[in-house]
Amino acid sequence: METLHFIGGTIVLPHETIAQGQVTISRDRIAAIHHHPVRIRSGEAIVNLQGGYLVPGYVDLHVHGGAGADFMDGTPEAFRTVCQAHARHGTTSLLPTTTVARPEQILAVLDLCRRFQEEDTGGSRVLGAHFYGPYFGPEARGCHPADPLCAPQPEEYRPYLDRSASIVTATVAPELPGAEEFVRACRDRGIRCNAGHSHATFAQVEAAVQWGIRHVDHLFCAMSDRARLRQTQAYPMRGGLLEATLYFDELTTEVIADGKHLSRELLLLAHKIKGSDKLALVTDCNRALDMPDGEYLFGPLEGGERIRRQDGVGVMLDGKALASGVTGMDHAVRTFQQLTGAALVDVVRMATLTPARIAGVDQELGSLSVGKRADLVCLSAQLEVQQVYVDGTRVYDGAISEGTQVASSPSPR
Ligand SMILES: [Zn+2]
Ligand SMILES: [Zn+2]
Repeated sequence: METLHFIGGTIVLPHETIAQGQVTISRDRIAAIHHHPVRIRSGEAIVNLQGGYLVPGYVDLHVHGGAGADFMDGTPEAFRTVCQAHARHGTTSLLPTTTVARPEQILAVLDLCRRFQEEDTGGSRVLGAHFYGPYFGPEARGCHPADPLCAPQPEEYRPYLDRSASIVTATVAPELPGAEEFVRACRDRGIRCNAGHSHATFAQVEAAVQWGIRHVDHLFCAMSDRARLRQTQAYPMRGGLLEATLYFDELTTEVIADGKHLSRELLLLAHKIKGSDKLALVTDCNRALDMPDGEYLFGPLEGGERIRRQDGVGVMLDGKALASGVTGMDHAVRTFQQLTGAALVDVVRMATLTPARIAGVDQELGSLSVGKRADLVCLSAQLEVQQVYVDGTRVYDGAISEGTQVASSPSPR
């Protein structure tokens, strides 16, 4: 498609909306944004938003799987399956997130990330890996298997960092021995560093900010706080990773906004303190997206942890703890908006420009801006995904698309 015009709805920009605006894309780029409908040349195609919204494609910093597949399955088919599934939920860019597994399994996934940075998945684009584990604190492993957990050691992580071009972000628990050297080695290679699955003290996080850690995984989940911290003395009370994340302006963070992991008040607290520019929405979605309730493997088919999908979330088999999400980014956007009442531009920004900036791709992605890549989502007035475009190519056309067919525009008056 050479040129395509989106009309008949509200255009969502980073800080404002345009009612009855018009966005024009030309091949793979956004070519123009107008505050009012402009003349469309005969033969040029239009998409009528039918009173809904046009938003930038969602960017997911933390996602494991969907539609029965996990990135850790380590096959091209699994990558395509997950990326196509999340595209149906509005995600146009994502970071395949590894899980605690054997080194050869992790290396295979990093190699596939490199491949799909170039190759079309038929759905979401692969920005590169979120290297996640095995450098987690044992007390905070969550649903990840305990066996392969370890402290970072250069001879062990060198093969991973040799693939630095395929890694966007890497998570480490700052309290582990060797964490500082790992963070500095990552930073030298252009890899962004997160703290996560950690029982670090506030002081350890303060040090980690000096090493260059700039983001914290799933706020409130699998992290130390004042109450959970094991203290050698009764007083004074000390803070943990939670308090440090809220405190340090250098740190961005993310929330699993599926309405199951975190209550309304925790979403409100995170949003009030970090704001829409330092708080990203993530799905932390496992392979059970768009699948029936039942048992699934979190992580690789070989060696993954058995979990259950029930009540719209992943839980451990004993039902006593959560084990990642099972819903897409469209659900997170609707849920955050409904629970907190935040302005739509702010909620959309937390699913688009903010995660794009955290991943370092905001020059190209994350907002409806002239010159950026034409990654777009057409939403209904209820924020349901209608159509999804990656690089100007439609990768998803939703169920009610009969009324929104791309049609040649009538000759202008
Ligand atoms: Zn996690
Ligand atoms: Zn996760």
